[in-house]
Amino acid sequence: MVNSKPELLRKLNDRQILNLIRQEGPISRAEIARELGLALPTVSRAVDSFLERGWIETVGVGTSSGGRPPTLLRLKENSTGAVGIEIGRSSVRIIYTDLRAHVRYLDERSINEVAGPSSLLKYVYEFIEEHQLPIDQIEGIGIAAPGPLDAAKGVLMVPEDITSEWIGAPIVQVLMDGLNVPCYLSNDANAAALAESWFGKAKDYDSVVFVLSDIGLGAGVVLNGSIWNGHNNFSGEISHMIVDVQGIKCSCGRVGCLNAYASLRAIEQAVRSREASRADATWSDIIRRAKERINPEAEVIRTAARYLAAAIVNIIQMIDPAVIVLGGRAMLHEDMYLFNLVRQHVNQLLGNEERDILITGFGVDAVCVGAASLALQYVYDHTRLLKQS
Ligand SMILES: [Zn+2]
Repeated sequence: MVNSKPELLRKLNDRQILNLIRQEGPISRAEIARELGLALPTVSRAVDSFLERGWIETVGVGTSSGGRPPTLLRLKENSTGAVGIEIGRSSVRIIYTDLRAHVRYLDERSINEVAGPSSLLKYVYEFIEEHQLPIDQIEGIGIAAPGPLDAAKGVLMVPEDITSEWIGAPIVQVLMDGLNVPCYLSNDANAAALAESWFGKAKDYDSVVFVLSDIGLGAGVVLNGSIWNGHNNFSGEISHMIVDVQGIKCSCGRVGCLNAYASLRAIEQAVRSREASRADATWSDIIRRAKERINPEAEVIRTAARYLAAAIVNIIQMIDPAVIVLGGRAMLHEDMYLFNLVRQHVNQLLGNEERDILITGFGVDAVCVGAASLALQYVYDHTRLLKQS
C-alpha cells in the first residue's frame, strides 16, 4: 500500500527506471536520468537497490564523454520473476518466468487432477517446492482462464466447458491467502495480448488484439499497455460474434456465431457430420488432412478460416489496432497451416489496407506467459501505481 507522497514518488520512479532498463538496456545511469528527467542521485539510489536485489547487472562500460566511462546496466537473466497459471479446458499449466518473461520452469496437469481453487493452491505449493523457489522470488502470480470472468473480483463466471468447481469460486483470494503474494486474474486471450504488448511482437505498438483460436475462441485487447476488459467484463468474447445472419444455429441459441464455424469443436463436428467414417476425427487429424487437401477436411478448414478472417476484419474495423497477433493450438498446428489461410483471407478482405497479422512468438505458452505478465506488469508499469493510489 502506498501511504505517503514521497513513498509514492519513489515507487513511481523505481518502476520507470526498471522499465527503461528492460526496454533499452544496456544503459547507463546518466542516460536513464536524462531520458526520464530525473536527478542522477535518484537514479543511482534506485539502481543500487536493484543491483543489491539481483534484478539487474552491470555489463561493461559505455563510451565516455569526458571523465570515467559509465557502467552499463541491464536486466539480469534468471533473476526474480513471476508465476503464471493457465486454467485451460483440458489442462492446468504453471510456469515461472524471470523479469524478462522468459520461461524458467513449466509444469502441466490434466484438468481432472486440479479440480477447483483449493486443489490449484496445492498444485502451486508443489510446483514451488519442486523447483525450490523462495517465496521472495515471486513478485506475483497471474492466472489466465477462459472467459467470461470478473477480473476485479477474481472469479470465473460461466465459461463453457469448465467444471462447476471453478465457477464463482474466489480463485484469486484462495491463492493470495495461501501464498501471501499478489495475485491477478484475466481471461486467456487478454493475458496473451498483454504478453505480446509488454514482451512480445507487439512491444513497439500502442495497441494489439490477440486472437486465440483453440477449443474456444477469444480476442484480447490491450491499449497503451493495459488490458481492456470491457464495462461488463465481456470484451473480446468473439465466440458469439455474428458472422452470418442467416447462418447455422449456435449453442447460445442465436444463429451464425463464429463459434459455430471456427472453434475446434465446431470443426470436429462439421467433419463428422459430413463423413461418417470420420467419427473419431480429432482437430489435429483434421488440420493435417486439410493440409494434404483431403475432403471434407480441406473444405471445413477453409470455411473456418473464412469466417475467422471475417471476424478479424470486423475487429479491425471496430478497434483499429496497430497489430493483430494470432495464437492457440489451432493456429500453430501443422506449420501454422490455419494461420496462413486466415492471414490470406484477411489480406484479401482488407484489399490495399496494410495491417500486420502475426503469429505469436510464444507458441503454445502464449497464455501462460500472459498470465505471468499480469504480475510482471506491476513491476514495471508506473501508471498502475497511480490508478491504485
Ligand atoms: Zn453463439
